[in-house]
Amino acid sequence: MKKGRLFIISGPSGAGKGTICDRVRAKTDSALSVSVTTRSPRPDEKEGKSYYFISREEFDAMVADDGFLEYADVFDNRYGTPKQPVIDALYAGRDVLLEIDVQGAMQVKANFPEGIFVFVLPPSPAVLRERIIARGTEGAEGIEQRLNEARREVEYLPEYDYVIVNDHIDEAVEQTLAILRAESLRMTSATAKALIEQYRKEEM
Ligand code: 5GP
Repeated sequence: MKKGRLFIISGPSGAGKGTICDRVRAKTDSALSVSVTTRSPRPDEKEGKSYYFISREEFDAMVADDGFLEYADVFDNRYGTPKQPVIDALYAGRDVLLEIDVQGAMQVKANFPEGIFVFVLPPSPAVLRERIIARGTEGAEGIEQRLNEARREVEYLPEYDYVIVNDHIDEAVEQTLAILRAESLRMTSATAKALIEQYRKEEM
């Protein structure tokens, strides 16, 4: 049975990974994992779509129940990927996109090295600052916090398989789709075995 592949998409807040993931999902049969967070919803965010918004106590109970594939503290809040929906989608043969920070990505890498790790960057640090300001969701302190976090995050670039520099969103989406397509053609031991069997058995 064909199993889906797990794509881990990280990158600084403001790099555009949310938009990329939404558009890739709309163009493919991939599933976007909905994370759980203890932060408050922003005005445009809907429960169960952007995130499941829960209390710290509920979050800790999920940790105790081994309910997360990974979790991390980001900007004073906790974020985690519920494990079961990801496993279900992968076993149903669907690719899964996880939009998570580098700490979470490194946890996934330790437990699931066959994941495909993609880092999304803005075209330059100056553009990153402009985008975070333009988004208008952060005060001055939040902006500086996110820029400092971005400096820390890029140190993890060598751990990733692919990098997307998001200058033009249409191109960035195309490049991400190209990664999904290329990875669907990757040789696996199961594929190789099935094809070798076929060539041994079937008449030429
Ligand atoms: P925001 O609060 O701006 O939605 O997200 C802040 C950061 O948390 C982003 O870098 C985002 O990718 C990351 N994040 C969102 N969900 C998760 C998650 O489930 N796990 C981890 N480790 N990071 C997450």
